[in-house]
Amino acid sequence: MKLTFLGSGGGRFTTISQKRMTGGFRIEDFGGKNYQIDPGPGALVRSYQFGVNPTKIDGVFISHSHTDHYNDAEIFIEAMTKGMTRNNGIIMGSQTIFDKFQQWGPAISSYHKSNSKNLILTPNKIARFPKFTIKGTATKHGDPTGVGFQIENNGFKISYTSDTEYFDELAKYHKNADILIGSVLRPGVRSIRGHMCTDNFIEIVEQVKPSLAIMTHFGFKMILANPVEEAIRVSKKTGVRTLAAFDGMRVDINEKYPERSKMIRLKDRFANRLKQEEVYPLNFETKQNKRRNNKNNYAKFN
Ligand SMILES: [Zn+2]
Ligand SMILES: [Zn+2]
Repeated sequence: MKLTFLGSGGGRFTTISQKRMTGGFRIEDFGGKNYQIDPGPGALVRSYQFGVNPTKIDGVFISHSHTDHYNDAEIFIEAMTKGMTRNNGIIMGSQTIFDKFQQWGPAISSYHKSNSKNLILTPNKIARFPKFTIKGTATKHGDPTGVGFQIENNGFKISYTSDTEYFDELAKYHKNADILIGSVLRPGVRSIRGHMCTDNFIEIVEQVKPSLAIMTHFGFKMILANPVEEAIRVSKKTGVRTLAAFDGMRVDINEKYPERSKMIRLKDRFANRLKQEEVYPLNFETKQNKRRNNKNNYAKFN
């Protein structure tokens, strides 16, 4: 089983500026299936950038109707259904993914809903499928129908808070998680409405006591504060190994000892391409062309 981060950024300004990528993450080889979680802007392109196949998914989970979570959802649904020519997969998420609620949603069209199973998740709602069981978890966030989840296969549980502020019962929804993934937008003690800061995450990790914790969805201030140092602080305070996600991070999950899971940096295929161009002296080329053109012009008049 693997977790692959097609981005570690979140919030409006990180998203608009792409200071960190915003493709959400993939749960791969979970009971033999792959799931795309919160495909924000760029998720499709980032898949190719990090060498994962966007058509090889069995489910798309969208936690709420904010662009940094749903932007690429429809194209992933098309990838999952072979361009809407097959019935395949499952779309899971908040009510506002499927229907309009107040000023929110729907995030996907009726057309895109039509070839896959639809599952509206609400807090504590449990849905069982042959390859996994999923439970909705509560959030306190802009979109009032926003949900996180806890997904389970063979007794192994991955929990995802999605965007939420800290509240007393939050840890209860994620208890017994082997791996806890948190949207931690802000560093230190500086939480804002609707979002957690590192200190909030420390409280959750202390209560849930997962084997491995992962912070992601970093806002501007978090990026400036250095998420790695924030994660070290969580590890030290809680005794739980905590990783700060980075763009293109893959965690190879050790199911028996999740705390021993291996972290890998996926090759950035686009950066490699750029490097090839960079080593080619573009300026030199234009100078040479100029000279060649001048020569040709000269030749014409002789
Ligand atoms: Zn967000
Ligand atoms: Zn949000």
